[in-house]
Amino acid sequence: MNHLYDALMEGRESSEKVFLRTREKEPRTFTFADMHRMAGRMARALHRLGARPGGRVTVQVEKSPEALALYLACLRGGYVFQPLNMAYTPAEVDYFLKDAEPDVLICDPERKAALEPLAEAAGAKTVTLRGDWGGSFYMLQMVQPESFQTVARGADDLAAILYTSGTTGRSKGAMISHENLLANGRDLADIWRFSEEDVLIHALPIYHAHGLFVACNVSLLAGASMIWLEKFDAKEIVRAMPEASVLMGVPTFYARLIRARGLKAAARGMRLFISGSAPLSPALHEAFEKKTGQAIVERYGLTETGMNASNPLDGPRKAGTVGLALPSTEIRVTDPESGAPLAAGEPGMIEVRGPNVFSGYWRMEEKTKEAFRGDGWFITGDLGYFGADGYLRISGRDKDLIITGGLNVYPAEVEAAIDAIKGVAESAVIGAPDAEWGEIVIAVIAPEPKARLTEQDVLAALEGRLARFKQPRRVIFVDALPRNAMGKVQKTKLREQFGG
Ligand code: AMP
Repeated sequence: MNHLYDALMEGRESSEKVFLRTREKEPRTFTFADMHRMAGRMARALHRLGARPGGRVTVQVEKSPEALALYLACLRGGYVFQPLNMAYTPAEVDYFLKDAEPDVLICDPERKAALEPLAEAAGAKTVTLRGDWGGSFYMLQMVQPESFQTVARGADDLAAILYTSGTTGRSKGAMISHENLLANGRDLADIWRFSEEDVLIHALPIYHAHGLFVACNVSLLAGASMIWLEKFDAKEIVRAMPEASVLMGVPTFYARLIRARGLKAAARGMRLFISGSAPLSPALHEAFEKKTGQAIVERYGLTETGMNASNPLDGPRKAGTVGLALPSTEIRVTDPESGAPLAAGEPGMIEVRGPNVFSGYWRMEEKTKEAFRGDGWFITGDLGYFGADGYLRISGRDKDLIITGGLNVYPAEVEAAIDAIKGVAESAVIGAPDAEWGEIVIAVIAPEPKARLTEQDVLAALEGRLARFKQPRRVIFVDALPRNAMGKVQKTKLREQFGG
């Protein structure tokens, strides 16, 4: 019995129904049985490379159907899947390798030269994969026999480790179990009424909980199928809509889609538009509804918890709210200091509890302790309140976090990289509101006296050190950073001054 994998594939291991089709020039299709067989071959290949059940498999590859099969292979073989954004530089990947100590690293062929020595130092073998285009792992799995005895896994066994950047600059690995994913996937499939009839447009990345767990687990559990886009492309999405029923996206998708030609007609046959990973502005929610007649269902979640709340299918989908708690998830709002529960309507810290909540951060006992109350409630770091209508509203963040295009940037990490640049005395990184990206990253820098530093110098120094999406869009120089009596940088002041 494999807790999650068996449930995802239940009754469909030999189904010849198409699960996934690409929209390449020569489209490729994969049935449920194809995915099951490929997962078996890949699990065997991983075993041959020395992966052990419970051991980690680190993956930094481009999005492809094969990369999705690799996730399923890890579940099936009992390996812990550790996906990484392709935007991470080798220096960043080095940290993840040292932290996770995987048995195997699977990377893009072009990255092999840079990553193999790092993987070797961390004790991992390196193989490569890029869709069906090639790579040594692709070749290796091709020659494996298809029969594979799915490895037994229980509810509490780890399925994946997903990294959320740490506020101190050190990324924390969220340990996510088979049951965390299964319980959450079932709730979502249920409240969004996913069925075998559904066709999801999949245009999200699959190194993140949204595109991997929400989109793929929910589709598999329901026996739905997917139209697979390698990346967001407004034109392609509009073209795919007449053959599809559901779209999942981050707010930036919708900000761009709304300008796409033909949206109105194409959206007519769609059953459901879902948004999450960052706040969807009420203005965009309303504009989208006005244009298409479809009210976007906004939901709320975190890597550590999966999804916690969603607007309903039946009943009002309210702009500016994230809806109601999922059936298995409890949500409460507390006093951020004492943790005492607050009355409805009072704003405070959002805390959650339920089978969807992760068990802790990988090898970080202290951080894990800090993240939970004694009675098991997880402290999200998001601030909000329940309205009289019972809908949850998110009013801000207690954590220093910027969300740009749905991707998280932790200012502390960017500040540490900037502070290491010669001529920088100190820096503060803030998010500024942006209609398309939600927020953009801005760096405010106080140079050392007499240092001659330009925006170009700073950006050039960060290239290769920080993933692109974390690099500032604008650099502002000041004489000194504003600080309060305690010596803490006053980011609110900086946001007021430069955030516009
Ligand atoms: P991640 O772990 O990358 O999924 O990021 C989780 C964070 O994204 C949450 O803690 C929230 O701050 C933010 N977030 C996700 N969904 C929403 C939403 N619908 N509205 C506002 N913030 C959101």
